[in-house]
Amino acid sequence: MEKVIKHLPQNDQACGWINCLEKRIPFPKLVGRQLAQWVVIGGGYTGLAFARRLASLKPDARIIVIDACAIGEGGSARNSGFAMANSSSGEAFDPTKLREYNRINRINHAGIKILREIVERNNIECQWRDVGKLNCGAEDATGNAAGHLIDWLEASNTEYENLSSVELSKRLGTSYYTHGIWTKGDVLLQPAALVRGLSNTLPENVELFDNSPITKISEQNGKLYLECSEGSIITNQLMLATNSYLHAMSANSKHTVPLTLSASLTRPLTKAEQASIGNPDDWGILSLHGMGATIRYTPDHRILIRNTADYNSRYFLNNQQMKLAKSKHLECLRQRFPSLKDVGFDNTWQGVLSVSRNSTSVFSKLSERIYTAGCYNAAGISRGTAFGHALAEYACDGDSDLINDIIQYPKPQWLPPRPILDIAMKSVIWSRKINLGMDG
Ligand SMILES: Cc1cc2nc3c(=O)[nH]c(=O)nc-3n(C[C@H](O)[C@H](O)[C@H](O)COP(=O)(O)OP(=O)(O)OC[C@H]3O[C@@H](n4cnc5c(N)ncnc54)[C@H](O)[C@@H]3O)c2cc1C
Repeated sequence: MEKVIKHLPQNDQACGWINCLEKRIPFPKLVGRQLAQWVVIGGGYTGLAFARRLASLKPDARIIVIDACAIGEGGSARNSGFAMANSSSGEAFDPTKLREYNRINRINHAGIKILREIVERNNIECQWRDVGKLNCGAEDATGNAAGHLIDWLEASNTEYENLSSVELSKRLGTSYYTHGIWTKGDVLLQPAALVRGLSNTLPENVELFDNSPITKISEQNGKLYLECSEGSIITNQLMLATNSYLHAMSANSKHTVPLTLSASLTRPLTKAEQASIGNPDDWGILSLHGMGATIRYTPDHRILIRNTADYNSRYFLNNQQMKLAKSKHLECLRQRFPSLKDVGFDNTWQGVLSVSRNSTSVFSKLSERIYTAGCYNAAGISRGTAFGHALAEYACDGDSDLINDIIQYPKPQWLPPRPILDIAMKSVIWSRKINLGMDG
């Protein structure tokens, strides 16, 4: 087996969550020839959860986590910071799918439990807030989606509140929304701070390498050989935790597809600005429209807007696309908070996530020596953690309720090759955005 990896990640330096943190000292770059029992490619939630669990099961093994960019500064730092407990299927309630819905939520809860223990044990400062999430809509049509969500929540015995528009406007500081359902269990957090805290608190037998893109993987005489520009690693076993870049290094190329999202974060609002929106507590909104705006009001009084999702087959949005994205973020902010007319964005950035045709994830032993997990649509904080943790146990012949829940996940469905894929993805996204209206 030999795989040359041509498609490599790159990160802009504009992520607001990362730029709010102190600059960190980089982990070393991989140089020279290294030997390790296990290598994890990709230092996001999945790779770090895998490495942490594996290190506790194999305390004598040398485990390397290696990333093309700075560990944890890919999608894991760039997201909106919802650690999802309750998935919203978006579909009308279907009793035949209730078991699957409950199973996915059990996996989400398991991921949150694992993260909570690590955060508490290590005092990781990441603005962890057990405040649930709001599922909101402004267009009349989202009333149907609200009804569907309530049916799922009722059937799964999930604690929720259906808020009137008056209650919503008091809670949010904007009277923009007509529908709002609060769900219990979801956690809001500062994603870059969390993933950095996770990478800084790994067991001693885990070594981290930044800025070392793996460009070739080959297998000879029962060993795996990994190459990057200034070094190489010989290892017994490999975990691919590269999420949107899985396609570049595995057979899963035909089953997952990248989506490029962009987001903007304001400076902290001044006291007068906070008062102008009624001094609300922090909150997080996911849209009841599948392609609608995600918005957060953070504990340090910043506003995050994420309202674009594009299929960009080359992944990275160019300057012109980013300018357009920023103007959409600004429009979204102005519509909801007209009193904040002097507030702009300190940072606008992009990130890539991975989706599958049937909205399912990857958890797999690809060959005798190679494992992989990824593709959580937009729920990778909790689910990526659960998948990484469970995959380490699975690779060590472990058994658990979490593994049993995860292996029942349907496999991602086949996707056609490019350029058919490009055309299909663009038309699917276009059709889903048609009725966005005020929810965009
Ligand atoms: C704007 C945005 C908003 C989102 N909002 C949410 C949200 O609110 N809640 C939520 O749960 N999820 C959200 N997501 C999704 C979430 O960020 C992902 O599901 C999560 O990051 C997946 O974690 P991961 O560890 O699997 O992958 P990643 O975080 O993508 O990590 C993969 C790593 O692999 C590395 N890599 C790739 N190729 C190579 C190579 N050849 N060599 C070495 N390293 C390589 C990359 O540099 C990267 O660091 C959002 C994503 C985006 C972009």
